Amino acid sequence: MDILISGAGVAGLPLAYWLRRFGFHPTVVERAGALVTGGYKIDVRGSALDVLRLMGAHDAVVEASTRMRGALLVDRAGTVINELSGDQFGHRVGGDLEIVRGDLCQILMDRASGVEIIFDDVIESITETPGRAEVTFRRGKPRAFDLVVGADGLHSNVRRLAFGDESEFLRDLGMYLCVYTVPNELGLDRMEVQYSEVGRVAALWATRAAAGAKACFGFAAGGRRIDLRDRRQQEEALRTVYDGIGWQVPRLLELMTDATDWYFDVAAQVDMKEWARGRVALTGDAAYCASPMSGQGSSLALVGAYVLAGELAAASGDHRTAFAEYDRLLRPYVIANQRLGIQSAAFMTQDPATAPAELSGSEIESVIDGSTRRIAEAANAIALKDYTPFRRT
Ligand SMILES: Cc1cc2nc3c(=O)[nH]c(=O)nc-3n(C[C@H](O)[C@H](O)[C@H](O)COP(=O)(O)OP(=O)(O)OC[C@H]3O[C@@H](n4cnc5c(N)ncnc54)[C@H](O)[C@@H]3O)c2cc1C
Repeated sequence: MDILISGAGVAGLPLAYWLRRFGFHPTVVERAGALVTGGYKIDVRGSALDVLRLMGAHDAVVEASTRMRGALLVDRAGTVINELSGDQFGHRVGGDLEIVRGDLCQILMDRASGVEIIFDDVIESITETPGRAEVTFRRGKPRAFDLVVGADGLHSNVRRLAFGDESEFLRDLGMYLCVYTVPNELGLDRMEVQYSEVGRVAALWATRAAAGAKACFGFAAGGRRIDLRDRRQQEEALRTVYDGIGWQVPRLLELMTDATDWYFDVAAQVDMKEWARGRVALTGDAAYCASPMSGQGSSLALVGAYVLAGELAAASGDHRTAFAEYDRLLRPYVIANQRLGIQSAAFMTQDPATAPAELSGSEIESVIDGSTRRIAEAANAIALKDYTPFRRT
């Protein structure tokens, strides 16, 4: 059975791995010219760790994990008001791991060796015939597949083609997020420094492997509508929103115009009543993005890929049965994890008139500890089925 996956990311690569192990024939098409490496650090928790173990990828992820030493919480003037361990700050308990997104993708791609991956191309159309899905590409020749899976992220192309415009599915959480690389002028070594208040957070971190440091901003949109295609408008918004905050913020804003890896997006979730239609299914952020505010996007991507591939195997490729089971098994876990994103965005977007302008070190610590408990529960809110009997390789 030929299955086309759009997107070589945290969802698409493990999906390709599992499909191949279950005897299917996956092909991945990725928009970028090569595997997208680098990026922000992400956490893998709870049931997703079991997926890594089942893939034989767990040890490599432990080896490549950030092992952040700690986090310094600073006030507006840059004075340290609290110091937390890396795990406490990152909401990690037990064996939870943190890794740079690109490092995780590299490990997942290594595990998916033997899968055909087409870089630098995108799907242009999907037409279902009674037995197949005919696909045209921007660059490559048209091909026919049995199934197509969109694992192409928050702004999924497959979702647009098969289900409609993203405005129908995006749940705006009322915040914008920005991340870019800057020179590591503070000499941070596996350390993070963060200034937080309700409505505005600015952070700077560096992992041992990184050549540079990452500047990260998260702020409440208020009444603002920022054009996601207009970088100058985004930079202007950051200057306005962060006006008056000291510490390293003015320097980080000065450096932003030089950043070549600029990430700026709205914090949004994907809310869909169905994740499959005909021969097309969605997984990862494309189907059920929980937003970075949940801290659970990668775990959802890993678990969703495992369940989707496993259910296709269990149903011997009968996609109707498999897609229905995928939805039934995964949806409660997705809902529990999306709730985390909604809760943390609600805290950040409180009415500034009633919320504290600047949080004390202990207030921040108690907010962090409260969400750690909720995250740990949601991260384990699924019992993984054993699909071992369906393995072919
Ligand atoms: C600032 C930030 C912090 C985050 N922190 C965390 C965290 O702490 N913990 C956590 O679990 N998650 C976190 N996440 C989220 C996490 O990175 C995603 O939820 C996760 O990577 C989802 O995986 P995905 O494969 O669905 O999507 P992605 O990782 O976005 O991958 C999609 C892939 O599809 C490709 N693509 C896009 N469009 C097309 C197209 N038209 N055709 C072909 N390919 C295409 C992309 O190039 C990419 O390779 C964070 C995200 C951000 C932005």
